[in-house]
Amino acid sequence: THFGFKEVPEEQKETLVGSVFSSVASSYDVMNDAMSLGIHRIWKDSFVSSMLPKLPPSLHQNPGTSPIEVKEPFKCLDVAGGTGDIALRILDRAREKFGSRDIQVEIVDLNQGMLDEGRKRVAKTLYYNTPQITFTHGNAQALPTHIADSSIDLYTIAFGIRNCTSLPAVLSEAYRVLKPGGRIGVLEFGKVSNPLFKEIYRQYSFQFIPIMGKILAGDSESYQYLVESIEKFPSQPEFAQLMRNAGFQTGQLREGKGGAWTDYTNGIATAWTGVKA
Ligand code: SAM
Repeated sequence: THFGFKEVPEEQKETLVGSVFSSVASSYDVMNDAMSLGIHRIWKDSFVSSMLPKLPPSLHQNPGTSPIEVKEPFKCLDVAGGTGDIALRILDRAREKFGSRDIQVEIVDLNQGMLDEGRKRVAKTLYYNTPQITFTHGNAQALPTHIADSSIDLYTIAFGIRNCTSLPAVLSEAYRVLKPGGRIGVLEFGKVSNPLFKEIYRQYSFQFIPIMGKILAGDSESYQYLVESIEKFPSQPEFAQLMRNAGFQTGQLREGKGGAWTDYTNGIATAWTGVKA
């Protein structure tokens, strides 16, 4: 059988995505390292540093009153957060770089298997059993109702949005829950522009990755599906335009400083950022 989006009716896509991630959940971290040769770690580190260049002070004084300090933790939502790769990096950066633990990340993911793996991982960290990290089962396209409008400081989604049926739905939900001035960061596979590198990457993706998936996870179809979902995802400027359509302010429609996105490894991965006006 062939596991591409092309053959899958939209209404079955979520079920399919669910089963893909259930079958890979336990081997997910190993596979990421194997398939990206460990480079996904560098992308995620760069992404998180760029999304959290500094931490706003969490202690606010009520204006016009005695200096009673009101604690307001910096609130992050990591959607399609899976096993916690981004969430843990956010918490580590806040603690190691800014000496802050007044920051909270809620992970939302559609797949219970991934959330369970994430919980196991967090149990080995110093964030275990603290309000700093929470896991919620939910859909990026219709976020759980306890996440209120304009309540989030930072919204991240890494290697998750391409699995969603409606990109505009995901982006408009992100826009709704962010505070005005809050930021969105989307890390996803981009399009490689260099023709030679592109061909090498293509061969690697379509031949090497499904074989590796078969050997390491005993499952080549899930990885075939992942490769096809990467091909189907919009280009860098197209996705930036979708962010603008959802209401986000972005940089200019180009790569780099002052642009709407940053390419990693020649555009194999791309980070798009935007701000809710
Ligand atoms: N963010 C993690 C990372 O970077 O390692 C996990 C990425 S993993 C490739 C994609 C995740 O997206 C899976 O855990 C999957 O369950 C989740 N996902 C897929 N569709 C989703 C949806 N509509 N809403 C929320 N999560 C979804």
